[in-house]
Amino acid sequence: MIRTAMASGLALALVLSGAVVLATAPDKNAPATAADADTFVAKAEKDLADISVDANRAGWINATYITDDTDAMAAEVSARQTELAVKYAGEAAKYLDVQGLSPDTRRKLDLIRNGITLPAPSRPGAADELSTIATKLQSEYGKGKGTLDGKPISGSDIEAAMGTTRDPAKLKEMWVSWNDNVGVPMKADYAHMVDISNQGAKELGYADVGAMWRSGYDMPPDDFAKMTDRLWKQVEPLYLSLHTYVRWKLNEKYGDAVQPKTGPIRADLLGNMWAQEWGNIYDVVAPKGSGDIGYDTEALLKAKGYDPIKMVKTGEGFYSSLGFAPLPDTFWARSMIVKPADREVVCHASAWDIDNKQDVRIKMCTKVNADDFVTVHHELGHNYYQRAYMNQPFLYENGANDGFHEAIGDFVALSITPNYLVQIGLLDKSRVPSADKDTGLLLRQAMDKVAFLPFGLLVDKWRWGVFNGSIKPDQYQSAWDALRLQYQGIRPPVARDASRFDAGAKYHIPANTPYMRYFLARLLQFQFYQAACKQAGWTGPLHRCSFYGNKEVGAKLQKMLEMGQSKPWPDALQAFTGSREISGQAMVDYFAPLKKWLDEQNKGKPSGW
Ligand SMILES: [Zn+2]
Repeated sequence: MIRTAMASGLALALVLSGAVVLATAPDKNAPATAADADTFVAKAEKDLADISVDANRAGWINATYITDDTDAMAAEVSARQTELAVKYAGEAAKYLDVQGLSPDTRRKLDLIRNGITLPAPSRPGAADELSTIATKLQSEYGKGKGTLDGKPISGSDIEAAMGTTRDPAKLKEMWVSWNDNVGVPMKADYAHMVDISNQGAKELGYADVGAMWRSGYDMPPDDFAKMTDRLWKQVEPLYLSLHTYVRWKLNEKYGDAVQPKTGPIRADLLGNMWAQEWGNIYDVVAPKGSGDIGYDTEALLKAKGYDPIKMVKTGEGFYSSLGFAPLPDTFWARSMIVKPADREVVCHASAWDIDNKQDVRIKMCTKVNADDFVTVHHELGHNYYQRAYMNQPFLYENGANDGFHEAIGDFVALSITPNYLVQIGLLDKSRVPSADKDTGLLLRQAMDKVAFLPFGLLVDKWRWGVFNGSIKPDQYQSAWDALRLQYQGIRPPVARDASRFDAGAKYHIPANTPYMRYFLARLLQFQFYQAACKQAGWTGPLHRCSFYGNKEVGAKLQKMLEMGQSKPWPDALQAFTGSREISGQAMVDYFAPLKKWLDEQNKGKPSGW
């Protein structure tokens, strides 16, 4: 599950929330100069920075104290912020062909023009129409319900139930009801929304919305698509080994009638509504003996008397050990670390940067358990990134690309190894699992991290096709099923006809949140981790490395983080890892011992589908 998000400046309002933007047609008669462009960028940057602080404050209050009043206040600022972005995105497009632009002005113009997800065309009424459809789709998703034993069940409850239910008939009921109830009613609106936003993208100078999204990576849109294919080829053999093993285990558990030994895996058996992460069924696939790592992080935390504050202090301690300055007093005074007893809040963990300077915070309903221990390290990664780039101009105060921000915290969390737990006094040295437990440690990780890769790739492959017209509305379902089969090797539990719209039953589709960032973040976190371990002089198996306490790693990391998005992302990547290419090799290296073990288990068994 992608359960954490970061909120900061432009990212919150424009990138993450699917803001609707009206493009103003460029005035071909006005001869703009490079100096005009500089003036425009300076004004736009200042105005967008100013309003971001207002929006962050209102958003923070709203998320930590939900009332009708704070809803209204947050919506009001958000609307003003969108309006401003509307205006400036259209104006930025006007300077596209101006000669003699400085590199910074060129970069900032692109950021202003591209810092939006769903552009409306300039014809009267189009912006309202698009905004209405986008809001309706999101709201329909939020109110969506499936059924379990014939009774309605909400989205968050059905997600949890998919993780724990092991009865194939109930799983099928939940899967089919959710996809039918949520997806199908959205289909016509979604197709209409695609048409309108494509017109807006064209006015901003992009071929279509998909091309606009692919333009955020410092390379031509087609090259970006090719890069994602290349990355998938690197990790595909690893996924295939996991798929083969998991299919066999599911066949052992459920029998041929439910899960045959060959062909795709039935999508509802993997512990997740979208079969995107499989960690929930670790118990089904865990090997006897090595599957049990011998300690329980939650029990360790509780035995040592950890409370939510101590969890966060421990996370801060990791970053301090790398040489990062302690979090400011305001972090401790203003963060929401514990769920308040007396008011409604948004518990979904997030990291905030209120003033685009030092006022960083997290918002979490922290529980003392292993998941939240990891989440704390993850959220703080956003905060340290935000603080590292606080001296950049506002438009550069963001991750090097949208994959970087999510990857930082995850890469630090990979360092929560048994030896790290020893170093911070949580685990007794004698209880560090021996090497024969590595299979369990790695398989548990792979069920989430490796299983996610093809899904992370295909969501936007589908959407790119929809936006460029190669997937027509009457092919929405067949194209989705084909991609799920091709990349994930899964099939729906029942046949799906052309009237269905299963893609719409995945949050990020109706919410218009680009998805390729999650695929990139998955690979980048291992790349960062491998680079850090190399810098730390680690020579053992990669997954046992912790770079806790290494100031050299911290200094190099700081160099990447402080750049924000001031330079093309390969420059930032190079500053920390020495490489200018995103690569899947580090992830392959990390899981190499597991791949070897899986291939031994898989010997003689059918592979592929
Ligand atoms: Zn996050």
